Amino acid sequence: MTYDFDLFVIGAGSGGVRAARFAAGFGARVAVAESRYLGGTCVNVGCVPKKLLVYGAHFAEDFEQATGFGWSLGAAGFDWATLIGNKDREIQRLNGIYRNLLVNSGVTLLESHARLLDAHHVEVDGQRFSAKHILIATGGWPQIPKIPGHEHAINSNQAFFLKALPKRVLVVGGGYIAVEFASIFHGLGAKTALLYRGELFLRGFDGAVRNHLKEELSKRGLDLQFNAEIVRIDKQADGSLQATLKDGRALHTDCVFYATGRRPMLDNLGLENTGVELDKRGFIHVDEQFQTTEPSILALGDVIGRVQLTPVALAEGMAVARRLFKPEEYRPVDYTHIPTAVFSLPNIGTVGLSEEQAREAGHEIKVFESRFRALKLTLTECQERTLMKLVVDAKTDRVLGCHMVGPEAGEIVQGLAVALKAGATKQVFDETIGVHPTAAEEFVTMRSPVAS
Ligand code: FAD
Ligand code: NDP
Repeated sequence: MTYDFDLFVIGAGSGGVRAARFAAGFGARVAVAESRYLGGTCVNVGCVPKKLLVYGAHFAEDFEQATGFGWSLGAAGFDWATLIGNKDREIQRLNGIYRNLLVNSGVTLLESHARLLDAHHVEVDGQRFSAKHILIATGGWPQIPKIPGHEHAINSNQAFFLKALPKRVLVVGGGYIAVEFASIFHGLGAKTALLYRGELFLRGFDGAVRNHLKEELSKRGLDLQFNAEIVRIDKQADGSLQATLKDGRALHTDCVFYATGRRPMLDNLGLENTGVELDKRGFIHVDEQFQTTEPSILALGDVIGRVQLTPVALAEGMAVARRLFKPEEYRPVDYTHIPTAVFSLPNIGTVGLSEEQAREAGHEIKVFESRFRALKLTLTECQERTLMKLVVDAKTDRVLGCHMVGPEAGEIVQGLAVALKAGATKQVFDETIGVHPTAAEEFVTMRSPVAS
């Protein structure tokens, strides 16, 4: 049987674009359908605009610290509309780059919603296309619990397009997005509180990292409220909002921002016309090679709910393209040692096992920790402290995990991830000569384990 395309990709986000471009490069006839924005979540309402806003928020402390180095500045003013306008222009430029990348690699681009008709057919704008393989790369969507008044709350998609910076913000959640946006709003000058339902935010991260970030954010004046849950939101006559908490307290604010996780984007996708099954959590179920329960259909990225990070979606996209069209170069995606950063202010950077995970996995461990005030801060009033931590297997000497809270933690941890992936031992770290004077050199100069 002949098909219109060898591969039909639904979704031009991180994973879909990577799979489509490389499949086309391997000689396949490829189409991509995108209903919303080229580049997907990461480019439009995720990593990229988020990082731009984090940079924007960081200037507040740069201005404060500059006086210690002899600079005198007038009163600093911040204009939200300028930041958002410039951010929008940059994203539009990136959208254009994604369009060129796809078109120049020979991919047929259909800028509309795609719906599955059966195992080999997709409908876009009333047109029917056949494909030997179909790849679902439709990503995720923010979810807000359906409490009374939830319609007054915003999610991350909307936060990027607010007309004005709210004077007061309640950020709900304790994951990446909540912590990052609390830092953004706070840094830009909004009176910000972060409300998390549990004892301590960032579940799954190393305990020392979570506690250290808690202390640093509190020092900066961010209002952290743990064991706090909103049960209803009411709009007031003056347009402001009242959030009522489980413990009966009422908080007054101008914006309630929910960052309580993301569901897979399956809306009107036509899965019911195929044999594609979902897992227990509602994400698309795939095997090791990203094949769904319908043999001609594959899925990757956020919609399979494994690790919701852009570089992971890219790696999965690459693996799918190779598996289908260049099998001799296929290598499975390695989900160990995925480095990650939380772009809070200060940043978290982490790779490998947390102390808790290492113990749970049965490792006998040594822990090395360093806490210090960075050299740059010695001429300033800023009392921020950096944390660096290594988790080492006591028997094999292998470094199992590297964790950091401090400026540029993401940048520093990327290099350490290479060392961990290569199986570096603590001795290799010790024998590595530092770059002086940097914060990063601390990772190769920690000599005495902390008392267990
Ligand atoms: P997406 O990038 O979401 O792409 C899916 C695409 O499919 C979308 O463009 C969508 O419009 C399209 N689509 C959906 N349904 C259809 C349909 N039926 N027909 C046609 N098109 C359709 N990750 C990091 O690594 N670092 C970060 O700093 C980071 N920051 C983030 C910040 C925020 C606020 C958010 C929300 C996420 C962040 N992420 C970050 C996560 C990252 O954005 C995602 O993991 C990544 O974008 C997933 O890629 P994907 O290809 O699976 O899906
Ligand atoms: P996360 O899954 O990281 O965190 C969700 C948070 O919301 C958790 O703290 C969770 O609490 C809490 N929560 C869940 N349901 C409720 C509820 N009903 N009421 C109150 N709180 C609730 O999701 P995010 O939305 O922060 O981000 C989605 C994903 O996007 C991340 O997991 C990450 O993979 C990716 N991302 C990556 C970034 C990066 O690399 N820097 C930045 C932003 C996003 P609990 O822990 O108790 O379950």
